[in-house]
Amino acid sequence: MTRKVLVLEDESSIRSFLVINLKRSGYEVVEADSGEQALDLLERHKDVRIALLDIMLPGIDGFEVCRRIRAAGNADMGIIMLTARTQEMDKVTGLMTGADDYVTKPFSPTELIARVDALYRRMGGSAETAEPADKDILASGPFALNTRKRTLEKNGVRIRLTQVEYTIMKLFLDNPGSAMSRDEILRAVWGQDYYGDLKIVDVNIRRLRIKIEDDTANPAYITTVWGYGYKWGH
Ligand code: CA
Repeated sequence: MTRKVLVLEDESSIRSFLVINLKRSGYEVVEADSGEQALDLLERHKDVRIALLDIMLPGIDGFEVCRRIRAAGNADMGIIMLTARTQEMDKVTGLMTGADDYVTKPFSPTELIARVDALYRRMGGSAETAEPADKDILASGPFALNTRKRTLEKNGVRIRLTQVEYTIMKLFLDNPGSAMSRDEILRAVWGQDYYGDLKIVDVNIRRLRIKIEDDTANPAYITTVWGYGYKWGH
């Protein structure tokens, strides 16, 4: 797998800072200073695995770029949003319909690279070893999670998941019926060295519910354990 990352950032000083640090950590980098250019570059570089998207841009914004990447059927790409202030968090959680993670500016190179590495690990995490087919399937009710292909089916119909959503589903299906705290989920999915806050867990659970539940107002599969976290089933 190529370690290719797209950096979309209109401020050239921040962009260079990102590019230098990513290259130093062994990533190949494709740079864009507008959303339009980013989408164009992604068309030409099909091997980009991770996109870092600034939100505030002169043309279409980072949310729109993210939406279009997912709308084009690219569920496998890792997407990290770059947000300017913590005040943007409400907007981020509300609009973050397809991103895997976000980083708040100003960020340290260590923090940023840790996030990119963690996402990259999750994406390439499953070794392509040959195992008996049934060992690759985690089944629960109408769901079948194929851990080799990293795909989810509900009643035989494929549900497209982002890398983070897949990892959360696997965590639930590996631990059916046990209550998991939001902190446990955060550490299991985003890694021990994650710097972000617990809201990211709720954002992703909400999104996952929209994809898998019959009635998101009354979730039957991912249930809430009030004041604690979530569990699979009742
Ligand atoms: Ca900007």
